[in-house]
Amino acid sequence: MKNEIRQCQNCKKDFIIESDDFSFYEKIKVPPPTFCIECKAQRRLTYRNTHSLYRRKDSFTGENLISIYSPDKDLVVIDQKDWWGDSWDPFDYGYDYDFSIPFFKQWADFRDKFPFQSMSNSKATNSDYCNVAEESFDSYLVSASWKIERVLYSDGVSSVKDSMDLHVVHRTEFSYDDVVCTDSYQLFYSEIAISCVNSYFLYDCRGCTDCFMSSNLRNKSYVMYGEQLSKEEYNNKLKEMDLGSYNYIQEKKKEFETMKLKCIHRFSNIINSYDVSGNNIDHAKNCHNCYDISDGMEDCKNVFWSVKNVRDVFDSGPGVGMLQLGYECFDTGAGGGHLLFDSVVYYAENVEYSFNCYNSSDLFACIGLRSKKHCILNRQYSKEQYFELREKIIKHMNEMPYIDKKGIVYKYGEFFPAELSPFSYNETVAQDLFPLEKEDVLKMGLLWKEDEIRNYVPTLLTKDLPDNIGDVSNEIINEVIECEHQGKCKDRCSTAFKITQEELIFYRRFSIPLPRICYGCRHYGRLRKRNPMKLWNRKCMNEGCTNEFETSYAPERPEIVYCEKCYQQEVI
Ligand SMILES: [Zn+2]
Ligand SMILES: [Zn+2]
Ligand SMILES: [Zn+2]
Ligand SMILES: [Zn+2]
Repeated sequence: MKNEIRQCQNCKKDFIIESDDFSFYEKIKVPPPTFCIECKAQRRLTYRNTHSLYRRKDSFTGENLISIYSPDKDLVVIDQKDWWGDSWDPFDYGYDYDFSIPFFKQWADFRDKFPFQSMSNSKATNSDYCNVAEESFDSYLVSASWKIERVLYSDGVSSVKDSMDLHVVHRTEFSYDDVVCTDSYQLFYSEIAISCVNSYFLYDCRGCTDCFMSSNLRNKSYVMYGEQLSKEEYNNKLKEMDLGSYNYIQEKKKEFETMKLKCIHRFSNIINSYDVSGNNIDHAKNCHNCYDISDGMEDCKNVFWSVKNVRDVFDSGPGVGMLQLGYECFDTGAGGGHLLFDSVVYYAENVEYSFNCYNSSDLFACIGLRSKKHCILNRQYSKEQYFELREKIIKHMNEMPYIDKKGIVYKYGEFFPAELSPFSYNETVAQDLFPLEKEDVLKMGLLWKEDEIRNYVPTLLTKDLPDNIGDVSNEIINEVIECEHQGKCKDRCSTAFKITQEELIFYRRFSIPLPRICYGCRHYGRLRKRNPMKLWNRKCMNEGCTNEFETSYAPERPEIVYCEKCYQQEVI
């Protein structure tokens, strides 16, 4: 089959379906898409809220809960400990399929009555404010993570211990304020660093120990501002620095940004991989337009944030791992296969259009099932009945499709319509990756969540915080500290924040000044440091080189971007 050009139902722009894509769609028996790659990702992400948290009442017990569902949403939300318990039966909420109503409408009606977990974090211990945090221990305000211990204020991290303020970091300990780093220890204020130890302000460095404010280094020690020092010189200079001072660190952060503009940028951060395109890819083969990929991926397309053994998966993420054959999934896998249009489905096979199901197989449009087989809308069928009814429903989906407010048609093979999401657009990861203004969101027929009026009364103003961590008293944990942005930014600022005991110990141990802005503002600040998940065709900027490549550095950006060959010549 040849490449084909189609028009996206959503943005109306032309997009290409490549010839080998057709074989994938044939393999999963799903018709080719009617949305372009970006619109598909945006639609899927309107169903993923990782860090907008609210207080609401438990629909069963009336107790106070922390939840990803705001109290104004008419949903059934219960404590996750009860959710995992035996006091209720997910089959009690089952639906008989009704051939007079479009599938997606029925699914939304069924969902709106079904008890949801207040947060999405199975196997989490003492990590009540963590969402989509699988196997988390003693962690706080972490989202989209896997296997973490004592991690605070972070997003998209796996196998991390005793660290704070990270974005997309794997297998790392005792680190702070890093973006896209792996296999590191005591690494601070750094970006794109691998296997670095005891270092500060590193950009694109590998295998470095005791280095400071440097870029493009390989296997170096005692390098400061790009200059090789003796161990003694380095340590003496480091001692003279006032790393515990907020103002001092702010100055260093400015120097870091200047250094980034002067150093050479590899067209893409790809490691141990073959025939791949995208950015931040580690151990992958034949994967295209993929981002933030760690620890094994093969034959995938348009996937982001995946860890461990992902194969034959298209248009999925964030949060896929140990998954074979998947399409339009997020937070899904952990040893599963053939999962289509699913979220939070783990250890499962042949599951479609389902949410929050575990250890199951052959499910269609189910929610909250554990160890079940042959179910549709949480009704149990025999094997024969299941496959017969599934076929009939797919036929019905095509004959009586759901049509949204904008006239977009949703047949079998589309993800759930964004307008049926239980979240407002700006509560979700869609806003993180495809930021929109309120008016545009309303025009799309989607919901917008106004910032909560918080009425926090700060007991300590930012300007009255001690500059140096050494001057901070133990009483700080009792203060409500004003966020410097005072809710005036677009980062869902909570206007004030507190310092926890664990945090204070961490800051003191590593001589890190107290933050002046709240977690939301810090999170969005880190998001802005990373490249978008998008590729442009560009030429190498090394004089005389004519090589071209696909890069996530947009053409108008100021960085110096080199092809692989020129980069290797300069850097290693
Ligand atoms: Zn589109
Ligand atoms: Zn703030
Ligand atoms: Zn802010
Ligand atoms: Zn070049």
